Amino acid sequence: MSRIDSLPPLKDVIARHGIAAKKALGQNFLLDLNLTARIARAAGDLTGTDVLEVGPGPGGLTRGLLAEGARQVLAIEKDSRCLPALEEISEAYPGRLSVLNADALEVDPLAHLVPPIKIVANLPYNVGTELLVRWLTPREWPPAWESLTLMFQKEVAERIVAKAGDKAYGRLALLAQWRTDARIVLTLPPEAFSPPPKVHSAVVHLKALETPRFPADAKVLERVVAMAFNQRRKMLRAALKGLTPDLEDKLIAADIKPTDRAETVDLERFCALARIVAQ
Ligand code: SAM
Repeated sequence: MSRIDSLPPLKDVIARHGIAAKKALGQNFLLDLNLTARIARAAGDLTGTDVLEVGPGPGGLTRGLLAEGARQVLAIEKDSRCLPALEEISEAYPGRLSVLNADALEVDPLAHLVPPIKIVANLPYNVGTELLVRWLTPREWPPAWESLTLMFQKEVAERIVAKAGDKAYGRLALLAQWRTDARIVLTLPPEAFSPPPKVHSAVVHLKALETPRFPADAKVLERVVAMAFNQRRKMLRAALKGLTPDLEDKLIAADIKPTDRAETVDLERFCALARIVAQ
């Protein structure tokens, strides 16, 4: 197997530092450095870019990001057992890797990075979805980051890129596609990880748009979409009851039939409805 750097193989690093995978931390490690370099490349050209990596673990993806030329990587890892392994990577790439031993849900280190900024992560499912929603809903747009390159369970990745009418279509698709170009760039079988998870995984690349795809107030759009999909099997005239006076007229003005269900309404019409509701 070709090498991407002069550091030891990941399985040796894990054995030497005693980083036995913990289920509670969602630890399914990538051991193939060619694969981690491929994921790093999926984030685009990293030269001259600061990267925020969440959940570096023993550092496979971190090494990929540095080998692919990231100017600076800031890695947030909750498990302190990983710190000595990450310290060795830092020594091999002097001045380019900083590690924060913290829970990524409790810190927001984006302000410490210099634009252009990319976010890259292979995270446990729950944490990943929660962070994705936070990154997609900052106070101001465009956000501090240029792109997100994130590993998810394949089923979640499909929810992010789904279109109206697809089974996986819902709040996550609308949130992501309103302000980013989102696509699946890589699908991985369970055997790519150690230990292997039960399901397939996929890497999603989301590139921030300069302005949202269609005008709408973010808070109103989020409220409309959340209500619509809370009861996704109901007709919208029922699911959105209480949202606004004259609901049926407003639905029709947004080119939505009151008898339509949320899963058939595309992003453009949800944005039109949010504008009419906000008036
Ligand atoms: N990036 C490594 C790789 O690709 O092999 C590890 C991926 S493993 C799926 C997820 C990593 O996220 C683990 O190292 C775990 O300790 C870390 N982690 C889990 N929850 C976290 C949290 N809330 N904040 C920061 N790191 C977390």
